[in-house]
Amino acid sequence: MAFVRTVTGDVPPHELGVTYAHEHVVLDAPIAQDRFPHAFLDDDDAALSELRACAEVGVKAMADALPCAIGRHPERLAEISRAVGVHIIASTGAHTSKWYPGLSWANELPAPQLTELFVADIEIGIDRFDYCGPVIERTPHRAGLIKVGTLQDDPNERDRRTFAAAAATHRRTGAPIITHCEEGRGGREQIELFAEYGISPDCVVLSHTDKVQDVGYHLDLVGAGAFLEFDQALRHPIGPTNPTVRIVTELVSSGFGSQVMLGTDGARRSLLTAYGGAPGLAALATGVTEALKNEGVSDESLNTIFVDNPARFFSFREVAE
Ligand SMILES: [Zn+2]
Repeated sequence: MAFVRTVTGDVPPHELGVTYAHEHVVLDAPIAQDRFPHAFLDDDDAALSELRACAEVGVKAMADALPCAIGRHPERLAEISRAVGVHIIASTGAHTSKWYPGLSWANELPAPQLTELFVADIEIGIDRFDYCGPVIERTPHRAGLIKVGTLQDDPNERDRRTFAAAAATHRRTGAPIITHCEEGRGGREQIELFAEYGISPDCVVLSHTDKVQDVGYHLDLVGAGAFLEFDQALRHPIGPTNPTVRIVTELVSSGFGSQVMLGTDGARRSLLTAYGGAPGLAALATGVTEALKNEGVSDESLNTIFVDNPARFFSFREVAE
């Protein structure tokens, strides 16, 4: 039976409903506080109020794209999910090297050892200490998504190891893969690298590609068969000139609506109402959706983007025996 693995348990894909596809609910680690303070999200009450505002406008699920050892808290994530009644999919995997300063396992280990860590997060449960070591205590909260990323167009040796591990983890578990594209770029190279490791592009969603505003770039990526996750809409004035609104409208009218998902990449205090920012994450389901309708994107296409595509993409794939 098809299922999506949320932090509070497996659910049938049709239970997801309106889904934000690249979120950050809790991002609480010294690395964020020290080096990425704009993205440091340590306040669970703030997360609760931000997610409640989203739930009130119909959001039913979120994919939390935070990988290992940079601020995951599976128990807090599960508690927030239950309190608000929003499904949360947690991630395993490794972010780009800049998130792991010093001598870090995430930059150093060979692919087979990375794979063991990722698979255990998915099959047994996410470590309560978020692989910050030296002790591992598995929680009952499992990851349902594999996150990796690149910092430049051409993957380096370290990227090749993390992508190989993501591919092996996908093959063993069936979990879908989400990537980080630095400045939106490198999507084509990521698809090609996954192809080398035998991963079909429809098991991968590339994030933040709408930082690149050239529609031709996106048409190339969906033409290659990948999903795209756009999450820059809230960073620009919401209306017909919003770059994300423009790109989504173009892709839908070109017949690629079934490969598009939307998120907020809300690891920005300046976007979150709960931290005194604006417009708040609910604006994706309200203002941005309204702007897309005004540009002629039909209710049916919006349902495809927000409901059907996430239900299909976040479902675990069949695992070959
Ligand atoms: Zn992110």
